[in-house]
Amino acid sequence: MKNKEYDIAVIGSGFSGSLMALGLDKLGYRVILIERGSHPRFAVGESSTPIADMILRDIADRYDLDWLHHFSRYGSWQKHHPGITCGRKRGFSYYRHHPGESFRTDERHARELLVAASTDDQQSDTNWYRSELDAFLVSKVQEAGIDYVDQTTITSLDRTDGFWKMKAYYQKKLKTYSSNWIIDATGNGSLLWQLGVRSSDEHFKTHSSAVYSHFTDVKPWQSWLDDHGISSRDYPYDPDWSALHHLLDEGWLWMLRFNNGITSAGLVLDGNQESRWSGNKEMIWQEVVGRYPSLTELFEEAAYAEQPGSLTATQRLQRRADRIFGEGWVALPHTAGFVDPLHSTGIAHTLSGVERLLYAFENRSLGSASRNEYLFSYEKAVFNELHFIDLLVDGCYKARGNFELFSTYAMLYFMAAVCYEKKRISGSFDIEAHGFLSANHPQLPTLIRECHRELEQLVSASDLTGKMVRSFRQKVQKAIEPYNTVGLLDPATPHMYEHTAADI
Ligand SMILES: Cc1cc2nc3c(=O)[nH]c(=O)nc-3n(C[C@H](O)[C@H](O)[C@H](O)COP(=O)(O)OP(=O)(O)OC[C@H]3O[C@@H](n4cnc5c(N)ncnc54)[C@H](O)[C@@H]3O)c2cc1C
Repeated sequence: MKNKEYDIAVIGSGFSGSLMALGLDKLGYRVILIERGSHPRFAVGESSTPIADMILRDIADRYDLDWLHHFSRYGSWQKHHPGITCGRKRGFSYYRHHPGESFRTDERHARELLVAASTDDQQSDTNWYRSELDAFLVSKVQEAGIDYVDQTTITSLDRTDGFWKMKAYYQKKLKTYSSNWIIDATGNGSLLWQLGVRSSDEHFKTHSSAVYSHFTDVKPWQSWLDDHGISSRDYPYDPDWSALHHLLDEGWLWMLRFNNGITSAGLVLDGNQESRWSGNKEMIWQEVVGRYPSLTELFEEAAYAEQPGSLTATQRLQRRADRIFGEGWVALPHTAGFVDPLHSTGIAHTLSGVERLLYAFENRSLGSASRNEYLFSYEKAVFNELHFIDLLVDGCYKARGNFELFSTYAMLYFMAAVCYEKKRISGSFDIEAHGFLSANHPQLPTLIRECHRELEQLVSASDLTGKMVRSFRQKVQKAIEPYNTVGLLDPATPHMYEHTAADI
């Protein structure tokens, strides 16, 4: 392998790197996939969405990867790959907790919001158990005959005469690789630093960090509700089989269940609050979860799963590179930047990058000027999308102290998602022209910016009243009316949405 020259080296074998390699191989490129670690390995970022599933299906069709279809719905995943763990994800659920109080609500669901994304379990989205799914995708890369090297750390990158020369270490042995192009799928942007690219958090309003792990024996939330006599009679699904968000004063806690008894759980802490968290991650976890009696009960019997075996704590999550393409290289969206896990935009955004970059390489005879032009607009689009997601997420953080305000503002995300889904299935979706999540829709970004501005004013008011919140809700309802085909903010179904994703 060491003297072979490649057209494209994909660096990083998360799902994005493997899908990129598989698609490029189908397009006839000579590809190598280089991974620093080895599979199976723990990875966070597990909750997929209807948009992610749509893109997965389209990549499967366009690049003749039929088997990929199976992973786009819970039913087909279970039928064809029961050995690869996943979880059912029927929608997005949000519960507002208050310190020192057991969770409580009322008949009009004053502290709960459930938004179904699918009509039944068969059509459902999934929580990806990344260690198994990513390992499977790498096995498909190898099966396709694509060169794959793991435990390989690139130590230097030089570009001469249109070729990258990479020096890398595999088990203390020096290896060299060369390729025309590098696609950075490292997720964390570590390769970008070697290319001299800077990353910063200065572009973001959202300010959060996370403490997370995989756990066994987390009590199901539905059992907790049943034990405490809280009716779930009109729930559209069992909330344990959804992306469960517990909103807290300090931020929020995610819970994503898998079929193997493991639950991914993570605290996301709001750094825009005065109390910044420092110190030991176990202490932070115990202290925050310990303030909420209902959450404490959920974790009473829980233990860390074997993988990863402990908590991970992050720095501020928000980051964005100042460039995401250059001569002979380009980065995927998660390498380019990240906002926050709230509303699970990560997997879908990453897949939309895979789709757009595969498209960029479809035309093999494209001159470098035209390809650079395409990549320039890709970069602009990804930056714009990160900004768009930031507005949607930051508003939810700001609103979360008042659940009515939160459940109003959160609808802007669902509206943006439904508009994008409808565009995709309308047959008029143009990969080149349409960015991710309606970020370049002619009206929606302005609408969201205005709602965000108004929300900022509301939450900074010292005398936020129920009337002000109701008036904001009415304004949002009116503003989204032209796009609201799924009954968002319908007073007849307070906080319970039976099915919001666009029908496929
Ligand atoms: C705390 C947190 C929670 C999240 N939750 C969600 C969620 O619920 N839903 C959602 O949709 N998204 C979520 N995301 C985002 C999600 O994690 C990403 O979208 C997804 O991981 C991107 O996949 P990827 O394959 O591009 O990168 P990764 O999953 O990061 O994979 C990158 C791969 O590259 C390898 N690598 C790294 N550096 C190098 C190097 N220098 N050389 C070679 N190989 C290298 C790594 O070992 C890894 O295998 C979350 C992110 C975070 C941080």
